[in-house]
Formats: sequence, C-alpha cells, structure tokens
Amino acid sequence: TAKQQGKAGFVRYVDGLGEPVLAHMQLGGELRRALDNNEFRVVYQPIMRLDGSRLFGVEALVRWHHPSRGVVGPAEFIPAAERTGLIVPLGRFVLRETCRQAASWLAEFGPDALHEAGLNVSARQLHDPDFVADVAAALAESGLPCERLVLEVTESAVLRGQQVSRALYDLDRMGIRLALDDFGTGESSLSLLRAFPAAIVKLDKSFVDGIEIDDGHPAAAGARQAVARAVIQLAHALGLDTVAEGIESPEQVATLRELGYTLGQGFHLAHPMPAAEVSRLLAHQQSATSRLP
Ligand code: C2E
Ligand code: MG
Ligand code: MG
Ligand code: MG
Repeated sequence: TAKQQGKAGFVRYVDGLGEPVLAHMQLGGELRRALDNNEFRVVYQPIMRLDGSRLFGVEALVRWHHPSRGVVGPAEFIPAAERTGLIVPLGRFVLRETCRQAASWLAEFGPDALHEAGLNVSARQLHDPDFVADVAAALAESGLPCERLVLEVTESAVLRGQQVSRALYDLDRMGIRLALDDFGTGESSLSLLRAFPAAIVKLDKSFVDGIEIDDGHPAAAGARQAVARAVIQLAHALGLDTVAEGIESPEQVATLRELGYTLGQGFHLAHPMPAAEVSRLLAHQQSATSRLP
C-alpha cells in the first residue's frame, strides 16, 4: 500500500545506499557532540634516535575517549571528520594542544630534550583558508618556536589543488617544517619531492615490515631494502631528513641503521603515550645525561 511505501520505503532507500551512509551521518553528529564534550585526547609517539634510543621528537596522534565504546582510534573517525568538515575544528584542537604541550616540555627540559613535535594535517585542513593563520596563532599563543613544529601531510593531500600548495609554501616560508608522511605509498612520490617544500620524508611502515629478513623470502626483503636505500639516497641528495616508521624489532633497527637511517618510530622503540608518560621519559633521560662525566 501507499502507506507501507511511505516511511518504510524511505528507510529501504537509505538502506539501499548502504549502511555506511546512515552510519556516517550518525557518526558526524556524534563527533560534533564529542568535540563539544571534550572527548578527544592527544597521545604522543616518541621519534627516537636509532643509535642509543634517545628521544628526538614526538608525533601527536588523536584518540577519542568515547563514553561507552572506550578509546577509539583515528582510523575509525578521521574519514568521517574529513567528510563532515569537523576535521577543521578537531585539527585545530590537536594543533593547539600539541604546540602548548611541546612548549611546556621545552620550558621544563630545555631545548635539547625535544627537537620537534609533529602532527598530522589532512587535505581538508589545507583547503581551509584560515589554516595558515590558525598555525601562526597556535605558535604565538604557546610560544613554541616555529622550527620545532612539523606538519605531516600525505602525498594524496598534497596533490589536491591550488589552495593546498599555497598553504604549504606559506607554512614553509614561516619556518615550519613539512614532512611527507607514509612516503613511497603514493603514485608520484618522486615528482612530489621536487614540487613540494618538504623538509622530512617518513619512510612508510610497509617498507620497514620484513626489511630485516634475508632468509625465507630474500627477494621481498631485498626489494624493501632497495626502496629504503633509494629513499635515503634521494633524501640526502635533496637535503631532507628521514624518519623510518613502524619499527617493530631490533633487527629492523639494525638493518635501517646499516642503510643510513638515524631516526625511527615504532612499537619496538616506543608506543604512543599520554603526555605525562613522555614527561617521565624526558625526566629520566635528563637525569641519565646529568650523571655523565
Ligand atoms: P600516521 O600519521 O602514519 O601515524 C602512524 C600510525 O602508526 C599511528 O596509528 C601509530 O600508532 C601507528 N604505529 C606507530 N608505530 C607502529 C608500529 O610499530 N606498528 C604498527 N602496527 N603501528 C604503528 P594511529 O594513531 O592509529 O593513527 C593512524 C593514522 O590516523 C595516522 O597515521 C594519521 O594518518 C591519522 N591521524 C592520527 N591522528 C591524526 C590527527 O590528529 N589528525 C589527522 N588529520 N590525522 C590523524
Ligand atoms: Mg603521521
Ligand atoms: Mg605515517
Ligand atoms: Mg601511516
């Protein structure tokens, strides 16, 4: 009947578009509520020196402390935040929080304790006409020197549009360092390095996985080593710093060091952790250093 086709038909239509549409709409509303409710937290993953495992910097990673679902990782909500535009206020929160925290670590532990603090920026944020001003304001408010801030962008984000490259060049001119995240996974990594004012390349985890294995599947390990070697040669030639991502074993550290990598990030070195834990790490390193002759 007509009545059955009414509401029921609409529901079926939405179902027909696929469950995700409805789920995303609900998630969008939930994210807005969560933002108003201060449910987002920033954790920091140390970036370590591969010789001797001292902390070099940190990468900020956002977490959602959901009232009933517990801690939710960014993979589950960043895509929806990008689609709904909520990534702009959420990203601004991460930016301000990271600058404030990094400035506080520098004040407490001195300029050598933490060389840089990085955070991830999505394409949607780079399209926001206020983004560059937001970054400048976060630096000014926190007192964090611009050269301590690293903004990590992926190739796909960089490749999207005029406004984006304008923002990247403005940030570079302000003295902020830009990192190409997940390097090597995109389609035009090499031409991007020429066109984009990057200061750092982050070798993607997919090239670090299995890089140490030279028996069993020698060809696969050889290919990953070849990519890792090519990336570091290119980086050196262009004057860029490198960070190897997703290091999960001491054998990977050894292989990467042989290839010339000096900085790395991964669960073997340190997991993402709350700011207070980073503070403890910095305090520990400081007391260890002061005990040296
Ligand atoms: P990413 O920027 O490449 O960050 C590295 C991710 O790898 C993090 O996942 C980190 O926890 C994970 N990771 C680090 N070491 C290891 C390891 O040894 N093994 C494995 N299996 N994983 C490791 P996370 O925190 O879940 O973040 C995932 C992605 O979400 C990030 O990838 C980044 O693209 C995005 N993201 C995180 N925070 C933000 C944010 O504040 N804003 C934006 N726009 N994106 C963010
Ligand atoms: Mg990153
Ligand atoms: Mg990455
Ligand atoms: Mg990644």
